[in-house]
Order: sequence, then C-alpha cells, then structure tokens
Amino acid sequence: MNQPIYSLVIPIYNEEENISEMYRRLSHVMEKLDGEVEIILIDDGSRDRSLNMIRELHQRDRRVRYLSFARNFGHQIAVTAGLNFVQGKAAIVMDADLQDPPELIFSMIEQWQQGYQVVYAKRLSRKKESWLKRFTAYCFYRILQILANVDIPADTGDFCLMDRQVVDILNAMPERNRYIRGLRAWVGFRQTSVYFEREPRFAGEVKYTFRKSWALAIDGIISFSRIPLKLATFVGLLSSGIALLMILLVLYWRLFDPVSPLIGFTLITIAMFFMGSVQLICIGILGEYIGRIYEEVKGRPIYTLKETGGFVNKTEI
Ligand code: UDP
Ligand code: MG
Repeated sequence: MNQPIYSLVIPIYNEEENISEMYRRLSHVMEKLDGEVEIILIDDGSRDRSLNMIRELHQRDRRVRYLSFARNFGHQIAVTAGLNFVQGKAAIVMDADLQDPPELIFSMIEQWQQGYQVVYAKRLSRKKESWLKRFTAYCFYRILQILANVDIPADTGDFCLMDRQVVDILNAMPERNRYIRGLRAWVGFRQTSVYFEREPRFAGEVKYTFRKSWALAIDGIISFSRIPLKLATFVGLLSSGIALLMILLVLYWRLFDPVSPLIGFTLITIAMFFMGSVQLICIGILGEYIGRIYEEVKGRPIYTLKETGGFVNKTEI
C-alpha cells in the first residue's frame, strides 16, 4: 500500500453496535477522497465484541489498522495512541458512534488544502442530548475560556483535522495529562473551524460516564490554568480581611453593646467552620496540581498495548 495521505483516528470503547455502520459510512466517504486513506482504530480495552469486529475489518480491508489497549485507558489516551501511529499527511480524529458526521471530512480537507494546519469542528447544536449534558457543557466551555491561558475554542470536541506538523508536535509532548483539544489549541499554527450539527449517537449507550466527563473537565482546567492556585491566595486574603473586620466588630460590641447576642459561641463556630472549609478547599486545589505532578514524575508509559494490526515499521510501545 502507498503512503496514505489521510489517517482517520477513531477511539473505540464497547462500540459493537456502531462499528459496521461507521465503516459503511466511512467507505462512502473514502471512495470520494482524493488520496489514500488509512483508518486507525484504537480499541480502548473494550469488553464486548468490538475487538473481534475490528480484527475482521482489518482482514477484509487492509486500510484498516488497529491498536488494542491492555485495559481501558480513556478516550484522550486512545486518541493519543492513534496519533502516535499516524502515517498520513493529515490526521482526522473522530468518534466511533457517528455523532461526528464523517461527511464533514470533505470540508475539513478543503480548509487544510487552503493552508490551515488545524481544522476543528464546532458544534452548532447537540440534538437530543440531555439538557443536563448540554447545560454543563455550555457552562464548562465558558468557564474554561475565562480560566485557560490559551484560547481553547468553545463547543469544540476532538473532532478535527490536524496537519502532520501538528501531529508530530503533539506526539513529542511528554505529558500524560492529555487534554487534546487544549493541546491542539496550544500548538498554534493556522487554525480554523467548520460547523456541524451534533447528531445523536447511532446506537449504544454513552461511554463518557459522569465521572469521566468530570475528570476530563478538571483536567482541562488544571492543565491550562494556574488561576485556581491564585484563587487560594485571594480567598485567603479575603478571609483575613473578614477576620479583621470581625475583631473590630467584637471590640465595638464589648465596649458599647455588651449584651449583643452575636458575641460568643455562634460566632466562633461559624468562623471555625468557615476557616476550616476555606483551608480544605485550598488544600484540595493544591492536591489537584500535586497529584498531576506526581503522575508526570512517575513517567510510566501512557498506555499499554496488547495487540496491533497492520503496522509494519513501528515497534510496540
Ligand atoms: N471512548 C473511549 N474510551 C472511553 C470512553 C469513550 O475510547 O473510556 C470513545 C467512544 O467509544 C467514542 C468516543 O470515545 O468513540 C466518544 O465517547 P462517547 O460517545 O461516549 O462520548 P460523547 O459523545 O458524550 O463525547
Ligand atoms: Mg458520542
């Protein structure tokens, strides 16, 4: 097979109901593309028939290559692994559940050919996703924009096209906390967006549990902002200001209004709880950062592979 131009990177975690339909839709798209394509499927430790189906696809169509993790490492790590193995001149990252319409690839490629190194897909709407998900996502992206030290575009996920140059830079980044949409923005170069309506899942349950979404959100904020750390100093200053004010108030009451009910047990208890919680929150924020430093310092591999298919030149990581 010739060197591919386009590499599709698709993470898969228990998507047995979606794989066939995804491949069917992709086949139509690939027929119309102006260059060779490779599809890199990353099995993120699926427990259903996904891996078998991926192997079958690889047997049928040699453009399909795959990696299989020894356990579930999460979506961002799966995308990272896929990017490590990309051989094309442009990588296109998309989900396996057809929420990211493969047909949008054409518009992405058009922009790439015009000289943009990153073309990310921006969601106009999220049809039929729960209001809670829509609302939390809306708030999160706005908060991230205020906090982050790079401009991470709102309402964009990982569905994007990246030029080889950008992929090489991402691959050279040693960090383990991989908030890909943030790293992608951090890299720079010429970036643009294409718009799309986020379809509902083709089949199956959402694999991003609340816990995983929460972890991703915190990763995004902590990896790209030091403002939470500064917040601790700010809250500390504020509470010492309040304490000072209270000293003055208590002095005033002692001297001029000794029967005031506010002096005494209640006030002390409230102040104690207030200070205690402020301190614990600040320690918690510190913990988030220190925990990540610890993860980085350990320097373990980001993922473990138990099987690969279709890669000849790459040694296993
Ligand atoms: N995914 C994965 N590992 C995980 C969770 C999800 O590889 O631990 C994949 C999943 O198979 C899908 C994509 O990541 O291809 C997005 O997941 P999902 O559709 O559940 O999330 P959402 O659409 O809500 O972002
Ligand atoms: Mg999805």
